[in-house]
Amino acid sequence: MNGFNQEGQNFDGGTMNSLGNTLQGDFEGNSSDLPLVLPEDIRYNCQGCGRCCTGWAVGLTDDDYAKVKDVNWGELKEELKDKELFVDKRKEFEAGVSMYPVYTKTRPDGSCPFLFDSLCFIHGTLGESAKPGTCKLFPYTFIPTPSGIFVSVVYNSMASVRNFGELLTNQRKMLAEIWQIAVGQEQSKGLSTQAVSDVAISIKTSDLKAVRYDVNLVPGVPLTWEEYMHIDKRLIELIQSKEHPEVFDTLIAAGELLLEALKIKNKGGDLAQLAELAIPQDSVDKYKLEAPTLFENLLFNLQCFRSFEWPLLGKKFAANWATSSKSPLHEPAVLKAGLRSVLSGKIEFPDTGIVSLPAVRKYKVNKFEPEVDDFLRRYLFMKIFSKGFCGPSMNGLSVISGYNNIVANFLTAIIYVKAHSMVKNDNVARIADFYEAYCLLDREVVQVSQLPMDKAQFFDSGFSSPRLFSRLLGRMSKEVG
Ligand code: SF4
Repeated sequence: MNGFNQEGQNFDGGTMNSLGNTLQGDFEGNSSDLPLVLPEDIRYNCQGCGRCCTGWAVGLTDDDYAKVKDVNWGELKEELKDKELFVDKRKEFEAGVSMYPVYTKTRPDGSCPFLFDSLCFIHGTLGESAKPGTCKLFPYTFIPTPSGIFVSVVYNSMASVRNFGELLTNQRKMLAEIWQIAVGQEQSKGLSTQAVSDVAISIKTSDLKAVRYDVNLVPGVPLTWEEYMHIDKRLIELIQSKEHPEVFDTLIAAGELLLEALKIKNKGGDLAQLAELAIPQDSVDKYKLEAPTLFENLLFNLQCFRSFEWPLLGKKFAANWATSSKSPLHEPAVLKAGLRSVLSGKIEFPDTGIVSLPAVRKYKVNKFEPEVDDFLRRYLFMKIFSKGFCGPSMNGLSVISGYNNIVANFLTAIIYVKAHSMVKNDNVARIADFYEAYCLLDREVVQVSQLPMDKAQFFDSGFSSPRLFSRLLGRMSKEVG
């Protein structure tokens, strides 16, 4: 969901970056012409599982809070009697270190206090309009660009992971309404002015030329929107065309493509030539012969910790962290687990106990079933299409750093799936385990958009090598099939 505080950190789901930064110029509006760009074959409708309402403290704007604060919840529901339902973070909000002035107070198991029988009690009693804006927005993303507002979904919902529900392309009217809520949220959080919100709500196609989309290929190498779209288009083609039939090879080839883009850019060339550029198979296969470096291995261990053990710890300490302003790293158990995972590669995944990452990496599983391959490519397509993996919506992350973040998550998802196969002592890479892995790790992907600027820049530099994970991809591909 957008707008959460998880494990003591601010989190806002990555709906879009400040509209004030992207919508600059003269606009004439007409809401009937809202230029939403929707992905093909991507579906979503809430399936009412209640899972998205667990693991977060929901952030409320002042408007959200005004709708629920004076309700006598205890009178309406016995379980809510004498319960503290909200956490005041106004001081932190005013100091700029909290995204919202108020948060819901999660139960000890990390679930929202208003969740009963997998249903929202606010929605059930006061109607949908009283639900916090973040809950109404989830899991949609809206990224304004000079070509339109790109709409997609994040994967920290099992319904979006499984591609359940109606096609987004059939929900244009509803999505236009959600866009308006998204714009209102931005304004309530003080991220855009009334004037910018007025423009955003009624923006039309002819206004888009004035929308800014600032993105770098790597830190310090800016791209124009047209240049960015040459890369975007070719990446999507690589993923969907199966020019490289194995998904590992596709990812290595995409890394090579980005390296070629960087070479072209550095020579002052035209990125339009990427359209004709094919990546030969031997440029991919060479990575299967090289061992990952110590740095790559440590980074990979860190990534596994961040994606899976960190959220597990978050669940354990959710109640403390939701109300504490201290960094979770002050918790000795967290520090110990982090060091164990990164330095010795021993990590706990949900339902596996502590396993050795080197042993899991070597564990062989059968070739992926076509449904697994389709699922992985759908995720990759959706991330690139949405424009939500780099640029303004990801705290200024460069294209190559954002791409490496996606690859890191791919690698950790494979490890999650193989760890579960190893524990079950079979060789099946189950689609259900992939669903679970991506549902867990996409929360962490989205969280990059909420990092403070200094940490985001550090992350950007650390992930900016075009072939950062190619050796790991090559090595791990040998243990599949
Ligand atoms: S307020 Fe309602 S929709 Fe939002 S997290 Fe809580 S139960 Fe879920």
